[in-house]
Amino acid sequence: MEQGNLRPQGPARSDPRDGDDGSLGVYVHVPFCERVCPYCDFAVVAERKLAPGAPDRYVAALLTELEMGAARFAGRRLETLYFGGGTPSLLAPESLGRLIEAARSRFGREPAPLEITLEVNPSSLERSRLRSFREAGIDRLSIGVQSFDDTVLRRLGRAHRAGEARRTLEAARSAGFQNLSLDLIFAAPDQRLVDLERDLDEALSFAPEHLSVYELTVEAATPFALAERRGQLRRAGEAEVVEMVRCIEERSAAAGLARYELSSYARPGREARHNSRYWARRPVLGIGMGAWSCEPPSEAAPYGARRVNPRDLAAYLERVEAGQPPEARVEILEPREARAEALFLALRRREGLAAAAFALDFGAAPRAFFAESLDRLTRGGLLEESPEGNLRLTERGRLLADSVFERFV
Ligand code: SF4
Repeated sequence: MEQGNLRPQGPARSDPRDGDDGSLGVYVHVPFCERVCPYCDFAVVAERKLAPGAPDRYVAALLTELEMGAARFAGRRLETLYFGGGTPSLLAPESLGRLIEAARSRFGREPAPLEITLEVNPSSLERSRLRSFREAGIDRLSIGVQSFDDTVLRRLGRAHRAGEARRTLEAARSAGFQNLSLDLIFAAPDQRLVDLERDLDEALSFAPEHLSVYELTVEAATPFALAERRGQLRRAGEAEVVEMVRCIEERSAAAGLARYELSSYARPGREARHNSRYWARRPVLGIGMGAWSCEPPSEAAPYGARRVNPRDLAAYLERVEAGQPPEARVEILEPREARAEALFLALRRREGLAAAAFALDFGAAPRAFFAESLDRLTRGGLLEESPEGNLRLTERGRLLADSVFERFV
């Protein structure tokens, strides 16, 4: 999820991780997928539904939208560029190269090297392009392995099999990628703790720099939601999910990957810089169908805004090609919404929330706004509050994070 920077102008912060430092992340959404998985509710389009030439038309629209959107973020230094989807690796490397060049030339540079991530699904086509992706400027891959168990992959409706994932990981190293992230899903249908243990062991045997492990969520209006209503989807119960989360944390730590965010594990210095922008509420320009931008505070939106593009490909293309900004809506953040967002995004991170930084944004420490919820959560052993008012999830809080966050929205 992309999230906005809500910070109004103010004195230097006590927590340098947060706040607007004049940098920018660019997110490029590429909605095409070989086929649509039955649990997916992202903005995606199955390849077979695309008209001939659609990818080239889409890239042209992205370049136009980048130019339009860049004006709103003029003067910022580009810190990260992230190609997500969908399956952005279905785009030709030359197309990605054109987008990278356009983004580089449109914004200033950070002193640190730009982080440029590409999401990749395991397939022979994408494997054959890995070297060209690297030559185009991609320096980090996020590989959608999901599982090394063909039965689990079949149940998830994924297009690839475990052998493809193994070959893709090996090919990525051979192509010279030194910053790899693996995505795994847990609590998949009929998946047991022992299955997850095998997945983790195999994932860690590739020595990835980063691991993202997501619990399967059943979203409304997906085929999985219908199967669940019909009682056809058997998933691990709460107690087993808790065991699974413990297992992920322990095995990752033993392999040198620390949990730095609820679903994210990394070797020191390999935390995902782009994703971290959302948790720190830093500005992101999102382009493409269904993408959204996190706009920094302005006079019209003192707590920031979100600019959300249409999820319909034809509508997106039509607007951009007509020279209009494509957004379907602009959401101006209300102070209450901004405070809640700041709180739960910070709690996702290992460091938690610094009360002084929150007070710079909102005029007072979290206790001034959330005293009752904080008392209840600290008494229930879900949250720790330091004498200075800094907040962090406890181990139990991390296991029950969703119910903690519900208290603030
Ligand atoms: S590959 Fe990923 S983005 Fe595409 S349909 Fe499957 S889950 Fe959704």
